[in-house]
Amino acid sequence: MKVLKFGGTSVGSPERMKNVSKLITDGNKQIVVLSAMSGTTNNLVEISDYYKKGNDDGASNMISALEKKYDGVIEGLLQTQTFRDKAKAIITRECDVVRSFAHKPFNVQAEKMILARGEIMSTNLVQLYHEENNIPSVLLNSLEFMFVDGDGEPVMTKIESELKKVLQRYPDTTLFITQGFICTNDKGEVDNLKRGGSDYSASLIGAAINADVVEIWTDIDGIHNNDPRIVKNTHPIAEMSFDEAAELAYFGAKILHPSTVLPAKVKNIPVLLKNTMEPHAKGTTISNKVTGTGIKAIAAKDGLTAIKIKSGRMLLAYGFLCRVFEIFEKYKTPIDLITTSEVALSLTIDKVDYLAQITDELKKLGTVEIDKDQTIICIVGNMIAEEQGHATEVLKSLKDISVRMICYGGSDHNISVLIDTKNKEKALIALNDNLFGNN
Ligand code: ADP
Ligand code: ASP
Ligand code: MG
Repeated sequence: MKVLKFGGTSVGSPERMKNVSKLITDGNKQIVVLSAMSGTTNNLVEISDYYKKGNDDGASNMISALEKKYDGVIEGLLQTQTFRDKAKAIITRECDVVRSFAHKPFNVQAEKMILARGEIMSTNLVQLYHEENNIPSVLLNSLEFMFVDGDGEPVMTKIESELKKVLQRYPDTTLFITQGFICTNDKGEVDNLKRGGSDYSASLIGAAINADVVEIWTDIDGIHNNDPRIVKNTHPIAEMSFDEAAELAYFGAKILHPSTVLPAKVKNIPVLLKNTMEPHAKGTTISNKVTGTGIKAIAAKDGLTAIKIKSGRMLLAYGFLCRVFEIFEKYKTPIDLITTSEVALSLTIDKVDYLAQITDELKKLGTVEIDKDQTIICIVGNMIAEEQGHATEVLKSLKDISVRMICYGGSDHNISVLIDTKNKEKALIALNDNLFGNN
């Protein structure tokens, strides 16, 4: 069985939805994970923002605009009045859920309920299109089998057992459609896997059913060697190892949600990245096959905060790092990069919810300096930390940019540097020119 995920652009219009339908009706047994139509989740975030600010009219206007947009989608997608009415009823029902939060105190749970509407609408629309055109498919409610714990981490055993139960209801079905992104948390409430989380849904589902392959269908022909939004003349990478792809996704390549690779890696399921607009393009295959050596790709992750702790107490002492890490553990804040000297320690975090508390506690251990608006540039490849010359080339490329931290040797396939975000574009272009040549 295969798992295929189609992102926002791939289901972004009636024509695109019909195109997806063509790609998934080849008779193979598959679970198809859909994102919300492009723009919808952003709209829902904005509506939530109006509620948060107490501007219910602003929210109401945006909901009406969204509903109107979907009227157009229904018209383009469905032919008969019966099916248009069915679709309209679903869109109205979902928009009414969003409307129901007016004139009430707004909280995180309300926001999660609102954000879930996008995937519910897109999957229902594609399913109705199939029903109208007599294409056999079954719509599964991912809230019935995608479970996360109190920390928002997937509960794999429960996902496996619940999904199995759901699938057993339809022994003769070959095509299943379900929502990416959304899940149920430990309190039984609607939750999500964070922005871009449909990729993660697909790999979790793939791992749960031991799929033959997880295919991520998007708007570009695979993972490119650099961010195509910033750098010109990037090219797709045909093959990557799980570890290389994981580093790239974690350190910023927007094409994959950072956690996507792990569930597939654990079950050794290849992940294919494919272009919905160009289905015959080769794309990228991520597997346990390690290919080639040298630098393959570069990604950038913004929104980092650098923390430096200077302390004479570090000198010739043991246990200092442990005390520092305990503070981050207490506030459930992951550390991305870390470098140490004999008297100081620099690290980066991207979750800043508890920055004030963390800073307060760190001040008991030493002098603390905080720098916001930092970017990690991650250079990924095979053996790049073992072969000679790669680090030199990276630093040579960055000769005109001030580098705040360098992490090298943590793994065989990654060199990471921390720079000020204002220098990101310049750094990516300089690295591209020097490492891959400007062609
Ligand atoms: P989807 O909506 O299908 O999930 P995303 O917008 O999340 O798609 O991801 C695809 C986009 O990621 C591409 O359009 C591209 O602009 C961007 N991107 C950033 N870095 C890379 C990279 N290294 N390779 C390919 N695409 C990248
Ligand atoms: N719709 C969600 C988002 O825009 C999830 C996804 O598209 O992967 O973040
Ligand atoms: Mg995405």
